[in-house]
Amino acid sequence: MVVLLLPGCTKQTASPVGSTRVAASDSAKAPSPGAINNASPNNATVGKSAWQSQVAALRDGQSDTLRVEGHPISASELTELEQLDGPLEQLLIEAGGVDDSTMHHIAAVKSLVHLRLRECPISDAGLETLTAGDLLQLQIVNIPQGLITARGIESLAQLPSLVQLRLGGRQVDDSAVSAIARLSSLRSLHLIGPALTDNALAELSVSPRLSSFYLDDCPLSDSAWEALFAAKPKLHVHIDQQHHDRDPQSHEPRGAQ
Ligand SMILES: [Zn+2]
Repeated sequence: MVVLLLPGCTKQTASPVGSTRVAASDSAKAPSPGAINNASPNNATVGKSAWQSQVAALRDGQSDTLRVEGHPISASELTELEQLDGPLEQLLIEAGGVDDSTMHHIAAVKSLVHLRLRECPISDAGLETLTAGDLLQLQIVNIPQGLITARGIESLAQLPSLVQLRLGGRQVDDSAVSAIARLSSLRSLHLIGPALTDNALAELSVSPRLSSFYLDDCPLSDSAWEALFAAKPKLHVHIDQQHHDRDPQSHEPRGAQ
């Protein structure tokens, strides 16, 4: 069972999502034994054994996590993924190796709860491949260096458990936010360097369950933020990793990872 923390500045803000909770920073969870074994990424031999030891821990029921860091995930490792459907709940790819043409390997892991794809140029087609996979348990999608637009985001509606979304890039525009606002289960959103206008905040104000919104590198007007807070007085907002003054929860600034 994956135990996650709610997006928020303090653990006191956490609330249950089914039997689990979701993290503000999706790296907040303590590393699994498998992840610890993968802590020396600079040596290719160590990287290989780290993969094998993590897979062994998954198969033994000692871990629910596979973390690939320091090198891109390889083609052979990708093909091994679908055999890990069941034990594998958290797939954390830190240094690339997945593109649209190989996303089907990930879509085959029906047990996924948390997917992080750093340094992966996933476009709408790749996201559509993922969401066609009937991933009923997938709660967290984090693709910070993707190429995803409104069209791909619309396909996220096929993920009934999605509560946390993190995307980046200038191709994330107002129409993308409009599509995000229609994701009925979404509670936490982090956008990095999108190209938004004030209208995006108006779109977001209708998101039915959104409780946390982090925005980096995208200046918007005070009046647009005021209108959003008027519509969603309890919304937890960080702008450029700083806690917004209007957010009632006082704490030390902390950004999501
Ligand atoms: Zn905060």
